[in-house]
Amino acid sequence: MVDLKGQYAKIQDEIQAGWQEVLQSCAFINGPAVKKFTQSLADYLNVAHVTACGNGTDALQIALMALDLQPGDEVITVSHTFVSTAEVIALLGLKPVFVDIDPQTFNMDVNALQQAITPKTKCIVPVHLYGQCADMEQIMNIANQHDLYVVEDNAQAIGADIRFSDGSIKKAGTIGHIGCTSFYPSKNLGAYGDAGAIFTNDDELARKIYLVANHGQAKRYHYDLVGINSRLDSLQAVVLDTKLKYLDQYIENRQKAAAYYDVAFENHPKLTIPYRAPYSSHVFHQYTLLVDGDRDALKKALLDKGIPSMIYYPYPLHLEKAYIHYGYQKGDLPITERVCQQVISLPMHTELSTKQLAYISESVKQLIGAPKTVLQ
Ligand SMILES: *Cc1c(COP(=O)(O)O)cnc(C)c1O
Repeated sequence: MVDLKGQYAKIQDEIQAGWQEVLQSCAFINGPAVKKFTQSLADYLNVAHVTACGNGTDALQIALMALDLQPGDEVITVSHTFVSTAEVIALLGLKPVFVDIDPQTFNMDVNALQQAITPKTKCIVPVHLYGQCADMEQIMNIANQHDLYVVEDNAQAIGADIRFSDGSIKKAGTIGHIGCTSFYPSKNLGAYGDAGAIFTNDDELARKIYLVANHGQAKRYHYDLVGINSRLDSLQAVVLDTKLKYLDQYIENRQKAAAYYDVAFENHPKLTIPYRAPYSSHVFHQYTLLVDGDRDALKKALLDKGIPSMIYYPYPLHLEKAYIHYGYQKGDLPITERVCQQVISLPMHTELSTKQLAYISESVKQLIGAPKTVLQ
């Protein structure tokens, strides 16, 4: 699915030189390398504040903790996402309210969002899934009308551009009150271990975010609030600062691979290629097809030909054991439930060769076109 070795081979001298410096300085936590990276990322995203933290799940938790929400407050999000998005809402004693997705973008359906708002709603957490952005202009309009916070889960869309009707362009993750991301190794900007970050343009929220991530400590051994411990280490900051220089190139490589797949699949009667929303770029964290046919048999047959594929995500969160007590049942989110059964993500990374792309796409077409007996 990814080729981290191939990517590392091209940047290993830079990473090793940076790591030598950290090893010699022994400034392992929050050292100069962390400051350098957070400044580079703030410049890249054109956002006022970037706080680094331990991982993407922590980033989401810290963001929600900084908003002073009260137990029982409702936070609207999607069910078609990685579990972290809903997990942190539940962990903080808030109520996750799941809304359905748009069948084309796979992201939060803004009409469903509007209908889910109650007097208890305090926050919206849209997810920019697969590298395609949610409709932030409409989401922000709805949020402003109802005086709600917006926390963007930008773990899959770092570097994506969102265009607004006034012509302005902003990076995904910098539009809501707070943006969160993950630098898990397979993400578009991946560390060599766990890492994450939180962005905001609001000075007061930035101060709260910093406090929450650092035990609530305002001055040494003085605690203004109950916080957590979530830090970025300097070795990871070196990796991230190095890779950030290549992020636009990495995104371009992904978009080229996606364009190859598109041409291969676009007129296929059983496959739907990823939609491109008119309001944003797609940075292809995943290249995800909708399959009209036996998706699981296709996955298995691909593996027999040496081709990995993944199902992101096979089970909708609102029907999982841990979340169903919030009051959901089968059929509540029909698009989400259908999409879970039809999606398949093909290998997508920065190092895909034309030969690999040709082999993968020819195999997919051959197998999906084959009669059922061959698939089994
Ligand atoms: C990866 C991911 C996360 C969690 O990030 P971690 O660094 O693994 O904690 C959260 N949300 C989404 C949508 C993700 O893809």
